[in-house]
Amino acid sequence: MAGIVYLVGAGPGDPGLMTRRSLELIAEADAILHDRLIPPGALDGARRDAELVYVGKQPGGHTMRQEEINELLVRLGGEGKRVVRLKGGDPFVFGRGGEEAQALHDAGIAFEVVPGVTAGVAAPAYAGIPVTHRDEASAVAFVTGHEDPEKPDSALDWFALAAFPGTLVLYMGVGNIQGIARRLIEAGRPEDEHVAVVERGTLPGQRTVIGILADIDKRVADAGIRPPAITLVGPVARLREQLAWLEERPLFGRSVVVTRARAQASGLAARLAALGAEVVETPAIRIEPRPVAGELRAAAEAIGEYALVCATSPNGAVLLLDAVAELGHDARAFTGATVAAIGPGTAAELARRGIRADVVPERSVAEALVEALADVPVQGRRVLVARAAKARDLLPDSLRERGAEVDVVALYDTRAEPLSDGQLEQAGGADYVTFTSSSTVRFFHDAGGRVGDGTRVVSIGPVTSGTARELGLTVHVEADQHDIDGLVRALLDDAAAR
Ligand code: SAH
Repeated sequence: MAGIVYLVGAGPGDPGLMTRRSLELIAEADAILHDRLIPPGALDGARRDAELVYVGKQPGGHTMRQEEINELLVRLGGEGKRVVRLKGGDPFVFGRGGEEAQALHDAGIAFEVVPGVTAGVAAPAYAGIPVTHRDEASAVAFVTGHEDPEKPDSALDWFALAAFPGTLVLYMGVGNIQGIARRLIEAGRPEDEHVAVVERGTLPGQRTVIGILADIDKRVADAGIRPPAITLVGPVARLREQLAWLEERPLFGRSVVVTRARAQASGLAARLAALGAEVVETPAIRIEPRPVAGELRAAAEAIGEYALVCATSPNGAVLLLDAVAELGHDARAFTGATVAAIGPGTAAELARRGIRADVVPERSVAEALVEALADVPVQGRRVLVARAAKARDLLPDSLRERGAEVDVVALYDTRAEPLSDGQLEQAGGADYVTFTSSSTVRFFHDAGGRVGDGTRVVSIGPVTSGTARELGLTVHVEADQHDIDGLVRALLDDAAAR
């Protein structure tokens, strides 16, 4: 089969700005050649057996020369592979994608170009600056600021740029900002024209500096702005005063550690990110489902014979329904059973799969469930408690005391997940660390997780708080409602008050 090379734009950094086409191609690729400036997690969807090659350029030292990259693309394409060449932003905007396409054309290798969201538009947009505006700018120019403006033979025509009737967007220019501003003023651009410099646009920690051509170099130096950054020159920069939206988000500028297992973390992480937080994922724990065999299989087969089925965690609810499904049944298998969930989060998982829990205590703790079940007749009846391998025995013990015939089945094990030094360091310096269960506290602690002096600890409820205190942590915030909604609300309230 003939190979093909896809020249794909990965967008400016926010993973949400990757195109659907880029994700499809990453998922199918045999080989992916990528740069440094691609969004975090961009390669998560790649095939396990895909060949991943980093060909980016470190500032200063070139990792792989452009000719070598071209040759590699031609070679892999020639071997019949589906190759993704993944670049930051758009591949044809200062991405040397044009040269790569030419090399492929010359070698007779098929290629496709997948445009991406370019940083020169996206970084200003996230800073609240439209690059064009009906009243302010009818044209926009993309300009490389890479060139040393002091070079006499500069390829840039500074007079033409100064006279350009619209917004100038400079890529790669922060290092040369002083010279660029000076050359533009000398060539006739008004020295009080507004300028914005956006560092790490669309990424966590995005910063924007506003000034005028005459003082922007000083402001950039004072703020310590570093690449990657976009410099924008034009009256539209002033619109940021009205249109800055990112900074308005309630958790903007705050870093929040999420310690949940990776499989569950994404919901919480996405919520926090949407509120403007910089999310640090440190999944110290991993959920390992048990095979549907032995006691678990027997219980799942006979689910309809239980008078009462208790799900004691959201994971447990999901895995119990998975087990039932694996045996070829659906929600109807629960007909006749009273279904109890330990709390709203667990009830929500059941509801998602078509089962409305009959008993749901407000507080997600075993004590509350025991209390809520007081009126459910269990004497002489069969009861199923579906839960984690390691869990407290309060619930089954109390049901047995009341004369129930209780089966306890373990649906999953929670295992420790090692954390990297980088993760531990980031977590230690964060503004908030969130704990959604006792086991996340314990595993985070066992993995070497530290809570810094300035870090506030947010717990989902009293049991989790208790474990945190046992391990020597101070709990600053405890959710009133013991689920993710409650935790997020408590964190927001705390952030608003500080
Ligand atoms: N093909 C890319 C540009 C590559 S050149 C695109 O279309 O966006 C690299 C330059 O892009 C950087 O020096 C910087 O000026 C800009 N850039 C890339 N990502 C950026 C980001 N997240 N924020 C600000 N500027 C960025």
